[in-house]
Amino acid sequence: MVSVKYSNVSIAYGDFVVLENLDLDIRDGEITTLLGPSGCGKTTLLRALAGFVEPYEGHVYLGEEEVTLLPPQKRNTAMIFQNYALWPHLSIFKNVEYGLKLRDKDKVDGEKPWYTKLIWLAKPFFIFVPQTHKSVSKRLKEEKEVYFENKPKTAIVIWWLKVPLRRFKLTFEESTFTYLDFKATKDPSWAYRRRRVFEVLKLVHLEDQAKKQPTQLSGGQQQRIALCRAIVVEPDVLLCDEPLSNLDAKLRHELRSEIRSIIKKIGMTAIYVTHDQQEALAISDRIAVMNIGNIEQFGTPTEIYSNPNTLFVAQFMGTSCAFKGIVKSSDTVELKGGEIMKFKTQKSIDTGVEVSLIVRPDNVSVIDKTDNPIEVQINTIEYLGTEVKITGKLKDDTILLIDVAEKTEEYAKMVVGDKITAYIKPEETFVFIGEERIY
Ligand code: ATP
Repeated sequence: MVSVKYSNVSIAYGDFVVLENLDLDIRDGEITTLLGPSGCGKTTLLRALAGFVEPYEGHVYLGEEEVTLLPPQKRNTAMIFQNYALWPHLSIFKNVEYGLKLRDKDKVDGEKPWYTKLIWLAKPFFIFVPQTHKSVSKRLKEEKEVYFENKPKTAIVIWWLKVPLRRFKLTFEESTFTYLDFKATKDPSWAYRRRRVFEVLKLVHLEDQAKKQPTQLSGGQQQRIALCRAIVVEPDVLLCDEPLSNLDAKLRHELRSEIRSIIKKIGMTAIYVTHDQQEALAISDRIAVMNIGNIEQFGTPTEIYSNPNTLFVAQFMGTSCAFKGIVKSSDTVELKGGEIMKFKTQKSIDTGVEVSLIVRPDNVSVIDKTDNPIEVQINTIEYLGTEVKITGKLKDDTILLIDVAEKTEEYAKMVVGDKITAYIKPEETFVFIGEERIY
């Protein structure tokens, strides 16, 4: 586990400056998310740590070591990408083993006994063992189905000619343990690599898929393998570049908790890039919200959501509605349509100043009458059983979003066009002058 530090980093592509004088301190063992809209520079910041882009100014540190100008292969980082980037021609085992072969050539788990060689020599006779024979035939059949798809006749004939040799090879493989033990006597690092590969495959419960090709796995399984391939080399920092973007919503949801629990289990520092707020809130220890090359706010998910420092963060994180108005007194604002809305700030604001008020839908109630009533006309109403989602129009047609999760049955009689009174909690209303939050 190491910490990461960006100090005064500026990066440009040609004349186009993407990041300018950026500072960020990432603690060891934490999952930090870079969150922001497309093009704000998240991936560039990640790539600067991996060594794929070079800052023209500033310093990048991995732990105590400055890595600003170090080539990528000299940094102990590993990356997972949106498109998995698995080798299609290698089995799952070999995909995961690949990095170990490059980085951990000399690591060994100990020699194998001499008799494993004898066992290996006896291997061809395993073809007569019914179980081996059966599983070899099954694998050949599976390979045939994949291979024959859209192939010309000549390729099919060549495949059939190769069958005896392939059958022989598969027979060796199918008696996995002794075959692998023999390999370990020839290649001392093999046993270590095999143990590590199966260790990480077990973390994602895919150890029984080791012999398959990547195309035989689902998208979610492929991304799990990509995660294994990255963590197997025990990097100082794991870099995740929108790893879940290619997956459907349900799988994204499932996999984000799985990724978090695996990273936490092995205790690794990780930087995670996404533009999905929910994902960032769910997976991170801390979030850096980025906007046009700047970090607008850096904090825990709760701080970022419940206490946004800037108008951008307040609007970017979660759903909210924004109202513009003019301050009328120390705690009231007149909205454009003439409605009066209350707010609460410690700092006083001069009357006549234009402010933006940000309200989260879950801070509005209808049945429970609290302070700060405001009349709205129902524009849409969705009764979802355990919650009700309403959009209400104010007098100047701005929209107020209302989410209620209690007494939902009482909303069942409301219809579009009804005028209702919504109550907005003044203490939960964020007040901004321009971009700056007024507390
Ligand atoms: P996304 O979420 O869409 O991936 P991002 O926040 O990760 O966006 P970056 O990929 O870091 O953004 O890109 C930041 C800016 O730099 C963008 O405007 C992009 O067009 C530009 N950019 C990225 N890579 C290059 C490049 N190789 N050459 C020139 N401009 C680039």
